[in-house]
Amino acid sequence: MAGNAPTTTGVSHVYPRGSRLNERGRLEVGGCDVVELAEEFGTPAYVYAEDDIRSRAREYMDAFRARTEHFEVVYASKAFPCTAAYRLLVEEGLSCDVASGGELFLALKGGFPPERIYMHGNNKSDAEIEYAVASGVGHIVADSFDELDRLERLAPGQKVLLRVTPGIKPETHAFISTGQEDSKFGFGVDEVQRAIDRIDKLELCGLHAHIGSQVFDLGPYEKLAEVLSAMGDYPLLNLGGGLGVAYTADQQPLPVDDYVETLLRGAPDGVTVLCEPGRSLVANAGVTIYRVGTVKRIPGVRTYVAVDGGMSDNLRPMLYGARYEAEIADRFGGSDVCTIAGKHCESGDILVTDVQLDDPRPGDVLVTPATGAYGHAMANNYNGVPRPPVIFCSGGDARVVVRRETYDDLALRDV
Ligand code: PLP
Repeated sequence: MAGNAPTTTGVSHVYPRGSRLNERGRLEVGGCDVVELAEEFGTPAYVYAEDDIRSRAREYMDAFRARTEHFEVVYASKAFPCTAAYRLLVEEGLSCDVASGGELFLALKGGFPPERIYMHGNNKSDAEIEYAVASGVGHIVADSFDELDRLERLAPGQKVLLRVTPGIKPETHAFISTGQEDSKFGFGVDEVQRAIDRIDKLELCGLHAHIGSQVFDLGPYEKLAEVLSAMGDYPLLNLGGGLGVAYTADQQPLPVDDYVETLLRGAPDGVTVLCEPGRSLVANAGVTIYRVGTVKRIPGVRTYVAVDGGMSDNLRPMLYGARYEAEIADRFGGSDVCTIAGKHCESGDILVTDVQLDDPRPGDVLVTPATGAYGHAMANNYNGVPRPPVIFCSGGDARVVVRRETYDDLALRDV
């Protein structure tokens, strides 16, 4: 952790940096009492500690700066495509990547200079490419032969990177593993030379790879640096892969410093090294607050604690079996084994299974930590549930950066 990064007090490292249990035994995030936030802004709500995001961004920037001038930390904005987050990360000196025209729109609206934006994606449409070119996007990451044709037609002279599928498979969930040979993304190692030879009207600046997310081992990054470095001399190498984050207290992320050291050690001298962190910048900065509505005890079977959100605000448990923690915001601890259910009309709408709570009751505020990445990003309107607001907290002040959706919003596109 960077020397001046705030630490958590009385709660685990899964919670945003600077969090603590206050004198009333309530969780505080960014100096704000989350029970009071629930009263003021309603539930469910995504609550972020702004300083946590800044401190994690600085950790990456400082780790590179201490070793080289030739680097870019590229925020993988798919994790939290929110203008307030873009604004904050552009201030911290990061670049960013976007995976669609919509993310590009938000990144520009959030103040990212177009030349600091990378656009990737395995199936960019003509309209998205035209939008990127018209906006002056710095680099487009070319993903396939068909796309090279499309880019040459629509974006002659555009700076590009080639996305390589490096044949590396770290230990992570299959759905978040991106660098193995059998992948919808990028050019296989054996195809790279043919792709390079194919390029005629584009400016090839380098290679891009991403090995997957939730990686807790430096070995695959060493291998990645080796594989890409052996592919030729380019000014830019994007050695992407998502550093693992702690969703539960038993998970221990790798130090950013060791990760950066590994990337730079493996890259040739003078090459500008890029990395593309998403969740490791924002996941632990955010928690979701819910209100408990019902507690259903089935003797000898299970206790269901139902909250006022679920798969519409956090799809990850249903999509990849992701595990989370939960606590009653003003009574941490406890020994009642509970399952946290959402309010959606699906039996699979379960946020957390077998978590210990302190005598949960209707009206309690329940908090799930580490929801800062891919929560807001994947939020949806299933069952006509309006999407939650995003609240940024710092120094005891809370501000709404995305308002809660209304029922009227649900019908806004109907014609
Ligand atoms: N870059 C690319 C190309 C990705 O596919 C992903 C995630 O799948 C990321 C960056 C972000 O990964 P993470 O949020 O785990 O850091």
